[in-house]
Amino acid sequence: MDIRNCVNCGNMFQYVGNKLCPNCVKKLDDDLQRVKQFIEENKGATVAQVSEQCEVSVKQIRRWIKEERLMFAPGVDTGLVCTQCGMPIESGSICKNCKAQLAEGLQSSINKSMPKPEPSKPSRTSDSSLHLSKYK
Ligand SMILES: [Zn+2]
Ligand SMILES: [Zn+2]
Repeated sequence: MDIRNCVNCGNMFQYVGNKLCPNCVKKLDDDLQRVKQFIEENKGATVAQVSEQCEVSVKQIRRWIKEERLMFAPGVDTGLVCTQCGMPIESGSICKNCKAQLAEGLQSSINKSMPKPEPSKPSRTSDSSLHLSKYK
């Protein structure tokens, strides 16, 4: 059995691929629901306001945004920028433009890598020297 310390509260728990103990996972889920509800009721709320009102760290809110589990109203400064072009974004890690460009790039690279016809290998001529070694 793999026992680890929760990175959040330090309690020991059985490790199942999560850095947090079941209590903290549940608490985070509750926090996320609370934050989502707050944003729903207060459209246009900033990350700082949400953090203050819901008692969730800005860091955690940004993490949710990056994981695309949380979405702010368009135009709200989330403090997140596109990793490609630096434009402010509301969720994820790159903006819509870069996403579209990436998709396009992917498409053209697929077209470029069309399978080339393999040059046919010269068929080996069967070795006939064997016959010479036979003297009877
Ligand atoms: Zn914990
Ligand atoms: Zn971008």
